[in-house]
Amino acid sequence: MSTSHQHPHTKTTRDPECVLCQALDRARAQGLRMTRALEDVLRLLIDSDVPLTLADIAESRHLSSQADRATVYRLLTKLEKLAIIRRLGLHDRAAYYTMIFPGEHNDYLVCTECGKIARLDIECPVEELETRIEKKSRYTQIYHELMFFGVCPKCGRA
Ligand SMILES: [Zn+2]
Ligand SMILES: [Zn+2]
Repeated sequence: MSTSHQHPHTKTTRDPECVLCQALDRARAQGLRMTRALEDVLRLLIDSDVPLTLADIAESRHLSSQADRATVYRLLTKLEKLAIIRRLGLHDRAAYYTMIFPGEHNDYLVCTECGKIARLDIECPVEELETRIEKKSRYTQIYHELMFFGVCPKCGRA
């Protein structure tokens, strides 16, 4: 593995406003209604360095007041279907949502006890494999997202 390899988990210098516009454009093209809540939800996910739960989003002070939990959930479900965001985690009650940034990805560590999810802070172990698969299969736009499972330090202490 080359040492000059750019850290794949480091955020590139993307413009958050531009990312938001692109996401809104895609949502609009797919027939989603342009609402303040939609914009707020997208902005929260774009600005967050970690995946967010429904509660994180629904209870955020950055969310306009007229968006209740059910509205936020419906928006998240729609955005997930449109592949604008990705749902992570073990089950519905411990679901996390994260923005899909084209050309970027993250790998995750999931606690099997409490469902907590963390981004892996190591260089991606399979970037090279991905390139090899792409060449060999002649598939394009290949991506991956790894999830490792285990018991988090907090749950392990109990
Ligand atoms: Zn845990
Ligand atoms: Zn990876």
